[in-house]
Amino acid sequence: MKGSAVIIGGGLGGLFTGAILSKEGMKVTVIEKNATIGGGLQSFTRFGEVFDTGMHVIGGMQEDGNIRRICRYLGISDRVHVENVNPMMIDSLYFAEDRKFYRIAQGRENFVEALAGSFPDQRQNLAAYTDALFRIVDSLDMFYLRPASDYLTVHSEDFLMAADSFIAKYIPDERLRSVLAYMNPLYGGRPGMTPAYIHALISVLYINGPSRFAGGSILFAEALRDVIVENGGEVISGDGVEHVSSADKLITGVTTRKGRKYTADYYISAIHPCTFISLLDDPSVLPKSYRTRLDMIPVSYSAFTLNLKLRPGTFRYMNWSGYYMSTYGDIWNFGRSDREWPLGFLYMTPPEIGQGEYSTKMIITAPMTWDHVKPWENSRYGHRDAGYEEWKAVCAGKLLERMEELYPHFRDCVEAVNSASPLTIRDFYGIKEGAMCGYSKDCNNMALSQVPVVTKVKNLLLTGQNCNIHGFCGVPLTAINTCEAILGRNYVIESIHRYENSRKQV
Ligand SMILES: Cc1cc2nc3c(=O)[nH]c(=O)nc-3n(C[C@H](O)[C@H](O)[C@H](O)COP(=O)(O)OP(=O)(O)OC[C@H]3O[C@@H](n4cnc5c(N)ncnc54)[C@H](O)[C@@H]3O)c2cc1C
Repeated sequence: MKGSAVIIGGGLGGLFTGAILSKEGMKVTVIEKNATIGGGLQSFTRFGEVFDTGMHVIGGMQEDGNIRRICRYLGISDRVHVENVNPMMIDSLYFAEDRKFYRIAQGRENFVEALAGSFPDQRQNLAAYTDALFRIVDSLDMFYLRPASDYLTVHSEDFLMAADSFIAKYIPDERLRSVLAYMNPLYGGRPGMTPAYIHALISVLYINGPSRFAGGSILFAEALRDVIVENGGEVISGDGVEHVSSADKLITGVTTRKGRKYTADYYISAIHPCTFISLLDDPSVLPKSYRTRLDMIPVSYSAFTLNLKLRPGTFRYMNWSGYYMSTYGDIWNFGRSDREWPLGFLYMTPPEIGQGEYSTKMIITAPMTWDHVKPWENSRYGHRDAGYEEWKAVCAGKLLERMEELYPHFRDCVEAVNSASPLTIRDFYGIKEGAMCGYSKDCNNMALSQVPVVTKVKNLLLTGQNCNIHGFCGVPLTAINTCEAILGRNYVIESIHRYENSRKQV
């Protein structure tokens, strides 16, 4: 054994970090507060249907995708059930302002051609913009699972520009700029702030081909758990960490709600850093300036979700995702609470294993700021007043009304409605303000936006969406960073390469 690690939080970050460390010979204990593991990978059953909570569209799972390669190294690739989407239309965008639809296609050339169909005079600009996206991503070794270079990486001017300025640099057409920014709600985009590299990463992931979990994202969490258990580790659920103790500038143990104590050589926080700090018996183990900094970083906006059970045989399964946008001008305004809600939303029909012609469910995710739920911010799940339920019903009604614009009589297809607000996200995952993408990044102040996985406490590391990039692709790549901070530089990347080479030889 190469030592032991206690990981606080059994979401995507905690489970991936745990799976890699246990595969590499460490004794791992993951502690999850909820009865069900997975965090954003959690699924739940309502009205007899399985709904995913925070992982609807995922990148990196194509045969040569980075996350698919990590899954092969972990030995879980065959256990992952994903459906790829229709390559000729991965996404359909609708702008209510002029009732126009746009088609987004998979693959660099198809992507350009599909949009050039709507903006013929922009073909060359679209090609230059797409090249620039791929150039930015190519400068990120980790994205391609390349060993980190010994040289200091100097990023291009595009890399750290604000995403909206980056788009504007290549695209003079105002409407096309808004169309190209359609995915910014998926990364909590803010105008003048979100760095172009975040926009490039998410765009390239989806241009390369998005996928969706079939049969529930929880199956993926369970596959990661099994890697940990099969390698001698433990994944404990339903017992959150309540205290983290320290002495002599080291973490010495954690105590759970049920009073159990766990000790290890390393402690890894896979929860929101501010939540972690609130668990420290002696916060001064971390410098005050560091704690203040973590507290000051703004978090991304949250979301309101509708989980719909559809009447059998009434709504065809969509092997693409739909985006409803109110206006072109508001495309970067999802983080503003002074605009009429909803400014837009994503709607999709999650696949079943062996999906048929019709869908039995739909998930609608609409970005929402924390301000909307402030009247109830001091309430707890299961103890909110009737006013909250009334407000949720109004929000649900607004989303269904927009869906009727796209599909007349859509309400007739809906058998039952369940909804979740930013409060649900905060209470279930322990995420500050129910942030959909963790900490918000600001290209004007990267020192404040990037949280290293190492800390001043030698045996304390961080992982999860708040360190680098959120989401299904970003969090596992950060997990590699965290593991390599313990195992050694490029250790995991080289293990992945060794595994791939041995596979090729067989
Ligand atoms: C509504 C919504 C939709 C999203 N859609 C997508 C999408 O389509 N595609 C995509 O790639 N990303 C999506 N995301 C983002 C994605 O879900 C997250 O980036 C990802 O799940 C973060 O993983 P994590 O491990 O960092 O955090 P989490 O998944 O939040 O895991 C943290 C875990 O720690 C646990 N925990 C908290 N406190 C304690 C404690 N004291 N003790 C023990 N455990 C504790 C929590 O219960 C949780 O299980 C979405 C997010 C939301 C909210």
